[in-house]
Amino acid sequence: MRIVLVGPPGAGKGTQAVRLAEKLRIPHISTGDLFRANISRQTELGKLAKSYMDAGNLVPDEVTIGMAKDRMEQPDAEGGFLLDGFPRNVSQAEALDRLLQEESMQLDAVLDLEVPEDEVVKRIAGRRICRNDSSHVFHVTYSPPKQEGVCDVCGGELYQRDDDSEDTVRKRLEVYHSQTEPIIDYYKAQGLVVTISSLGPVEEITQRALGALK
Ligand code: ADP
Ligand code: ADP
Ligand code: ADP
Repeated sequence: MRIVLVGPPGAGKGTQAVRLAEKLRIPHISTGDLFRANISRQTELGKLAKSYMDAGNLVPDEVTIGMAKDRMEQPDAEGGFLLDGFPRNVSQAEALDRLLQEESMQLDAVLDLEVPEDEVVKRIAGRRICRNDSSHVFHVTYSPPKQEGVCDVCGGELYQRDDDSEDTVRKRLEVYHSQTEPIIDYYKAQGLVVTISSLGPVEEITQRALGALK
């Protein structure tokens, strides 16, 4: 299956993507995680991306699309993938369509995670992620690690993302509404969108998603 996950920052995309990818046996491809891995390795790409991310803006399309394409062309993504955080604007969605067409492939679904804005703000304020791998995600009250500040998955140090500060979150929500939400209409025109509520226990949402993807 080839699936795109959309939803505002803090909707639970990463949390659900890890679980869905495992159940559906497809790789989880998160452009945010790829950028953060580049930042921690201090690559040129990471240095460039960081300035945009810290300001709550999108990283330029040329860079983002190239990075996503490289990842989608890895052998493990041949049979399908779950995209988390890409595409994030209409021109990225058009680029993805072109890439898929070249390979005679199609998306199966665009899963839209719906959450009220006040909940998103609470989720982001308490989010803590792992230094080793930013797909290891916790929340200080909703999903606390067994030992404070320590990742349950790998023992790494947990920290708060620089762009999860209150000011940057406001900017990211603005960017979501103005640039990312339009892709929902773009994909509705292709009949691909399934919308589910991302409120409630994590496992219930996973089941809801799997039901909606059938
Ligand atoms: P969240 O899960 O909170 O929505 P992500 O980890 O997906 O955040 O993204 C963090 C930041 O990385 C974004 O605010 C943006 O700066 C950058 N980013 C991630 N994916 C993309 C993309 N597809 N296009 C441009 N920038 C991106
Ligand atoms: P996104 O990738 O959309 O930005 P995350 O998966 O990182 O979102 O989740 C944001 C925060 O909300 C994390 O701290 C995560 O632990 C928490 N979270 C995720 N799903 C739920 C849920 N169903 N209920 C409560 N908190 C959640
Ligand atoms: P290094 O400093 O280790 O050479 P880079 O920052 O050049 O690392 O690149 C790290 C990864 O990011 C590479 O595998 C490359 O595919 C990808 N990458 C780097 N720059 C770009 C770019 N401008 N557009 C797309 N992908 C890029």
